[in-house]
Amino acid sequence: MANATEANSDKLKILLLTGQSGPWHNWRVSSPALREAMESASIFEVDTLVTPAAGESFEGFSPRWSDYAAVVLVYEGDSWPEAVKASFVEYMRGGGGLVVYHDTDNAFPDWPEYNEMIGVGGWAGRDEKCGPMVRWRDGAMALDDGPGEAMHPAPYEFLVTTRSPEHPVMRGLPSEWLHATDELYSQLRGPAKGLTVLATARAERDRDKGTGENEPMLMTIEYGAGRVFHTTLGHVHFDVTEAPEAVRCSGFVATLNRGVEWAATGEVTQKLPEDFPGENEAVVRP
Ligand SMILES: [Zn+2]
Repeated sequence: MANATEANSDKLKILLLTGQSGPWHNWRVSSPALREAMESASIFEVDTLVTPAAGESFEGFSPRWSDYAAVVLVYEGDSWPEAVKASFVEYMRGGGGLVVYHDTDNAFPDWPEYNEMIGVGGWAGRDEKCGPMVRWRDGAMALDDGPGEAMHPAPYEFLVTTRSPEHPVMRGLPSEWLHATDELYSQLRGPAKGLTVLATARAERDRDKGTGENEPMLMTIEYGAGRVFHTTLGHVHFDVTEAPEAVRCSGFVATLNRGVEWAATGEVTQKLPEDFPGENEAVVRP
């Protein structure tokens, strides 16, 4: 039947929740870019929900989490009302799906459950008291309690290295691929409980703000019965009007879509796109 509702009924319902950014980012550009990326996978039905603007009342803001297989957060802004936070924790503990994107891991520094969901985060006062940094050393994940707060080198093209090749999100990906010009988030910290590192990247020490460490780029976090996929990739600067290379990189798009499906179902059915980057050249979609 050509009924739109029925035609879409086998797609995974995804909530893209957005509406505020910090001073360095631009949700008005990143959100449509992520929506377009997800729709290119043809398996998601994406609803966009925009929060009240910064400083405005959240009265009446009450997302129906349980309508969705996963929630993709593109949000760095005002704290949510306690009832909204509680309902989101309940949704996640009960088996919901969450995708944390780039600066979304800067949000909600004082919300303990959120910090557990994202595993690690940065800025907004996150220091040693928030938990360790997560690194990859000698072939395994290492928790680093040393000093340091989040930073990143000036955006550049960097290699992303697969660390969990058997994870559904990563199966079939090359062991290394070149990501288009982006911020390489470094020294994120947090509770890091139930965290699996899927992929890392390393900014050379001779680069300004290069840690020389393998920093987590793609992660999963178990939260109750819920699944979290965390991508640190995809910087969209506050002053841009069009989606930059970081979110048009075919590697960003493919790993995002695989992460969204995994967060929603625990499985990945998508084939790797033919334009997935190799280690020598970044691939940016039009
Ligand atoms: Zn950024």
